[in-house]
Amino acid sequence: MGNKKRKEKNHHKKQKRKATGEQGLALSYVQDWVFRDSHPPPPSTAADAVNHDFLPQVARKLADPVVFELHSHSNRSDGFLAPAAVVERAHRNGVHVLALTDHDTMAGIPEAIEAAQKYGIRIIPGVEISAVYSPRLEPGTGEPVHILAYYGSSGPSRYEDLDNLLSNIRDGRYLRAKNMLLKLNKLKVPIKWEHLTKITGDGVAPGRVHVARAMVEAGHVENLREAFNRYLHDGGPAYAVGTEPFAQDVVQLIHDTGGIAALAHPWALKNPVAVIRSLKAIGLHAMEVYRSDGKATGFGELADTYELLKLGGSDYHGRGGHDESDLGSVNLPLATLYGFLKMARPVWCNAAKDILLNFAEDPYNTSLEKIMRFVIPRKSKGCTTVNSGKDIVDLCLSSWFSNDEKEDNEFEAIRFMLADTEISKKVMQVPLSSR
Ligand SMILES: [Zn+2]
Ligand SMILES: [Zn+2]
Repeated sequence: MGNKKRKEKNHHKKQKRKATGEQGLALSYVQDWVFRDSHPPPPSTAADAVNHDFLPQVARKLADPVVFELHSHSNRSDGFLAPAAVVERAHRNGVHVLALTDHDTMAGIPEAIEAAQKYGIRIIPGVEISAVYSPRLEPGTGEPVHILAYYGSSGPSRYEDLDNLLSNIRDGRYLRAKNMLLKLNKLKVPIKWEHLTKITGDGVAPGRVHVARAMVEAGHVENLREAFNRYLHDGGPAYAVGTEPFAQDVVQLIHDTGGIAALAHPWALKNPVAVIRSLKAIGLHAMEVYRSDGKATGFGELADTYELLKLGGSDYHGRGGHDESDLGSVNLPLATLYGFLKMARPVWCNAAKDILLNFAEDPYNTSLEKIMRFVIPRKSKGCTTVNSGKDIVDLCLSSWFSNDEKEDNEFEAIRFMLADTEISKKVMQVPLSSR
């Protein structure tokens, strides 16, 4: 072997070691967060991972990936399974972290969190927000865009602002469904309103899939695909526009409420580059580039150009067709999971600070329900562990945060502010039992 070749070989070896070392670091960062309060992975520290003696161990652990599912729906929007059933299925499929991202509602999150406690899965409170992209923000124009929002364990800060936006969209969906039925009736495809609301279920805003299901049940079409192809597709004969907010405003709001904003399925857009460029300028964090079947799309380059994190998920709805991707089917690379958590954790941490600081400033007039919407104490611990405002801080920070994060000066200051605040059990039981 020539000198040059040997040198090259050594160089490759070094690079490989370096890469494996970096991967080891990323893996322990991700595992630390994912498994902090469940079955802990074999003890490993960042120092171990870079130590070459530990390479065989790192390699073994790499073969056992951590599975994130970042796009899923329940029957709180147009999915078929209840949130708890989605969680159970995710667990069966080996998912460790599940983002429930129903359309325009976070109503399924508490049920999902409660169900997930049984399996040691982490639930990322998420939502897929319907918006329209219009370059100059002209009302009544633009193309539909879906934006995923991912929040921390305490949920959005300024929850009311997000909730207002979402409930306006849901109200618009009722109006839109009525318009679609009117159009269908004119096309001699009659669907009764009662039939539609029976399919959606109580309090669930109707979407196109619900209308399509009613059409199948009424025998007007063979299947959902035919309903969309013939009547309900964008601009189709029975299509109606909703009253969705502008995508730019949605990204801004996700930012302001402590969430991570990701553009969903950009391959469905007519003009993806314009949408991505414009939303990136407002603070879009990420975009989906992996299709629901796990295949990378041609959008990776675009994501790189605009420095967006490359995400993806199954977009599982539980329709049960053989062509539907199942929960956990998109295997996100370790570097993606690492990048996602690195980006999200400080954002989520700040949201928790905002929420707790608001509470600390006026603890007796802030309802606990407001700050603990998504903080559900484990059943075994019940309500009795919470006696003071300080306990609430600890409960909100729970296992999502590292000790370093929990001991942050600002959290310490909030604890100090709340040191003498007594929380009566009566107050505590109201929010927890009313869920
Ligand atoms: Zn979507
Ligand atoms: Zn979706």
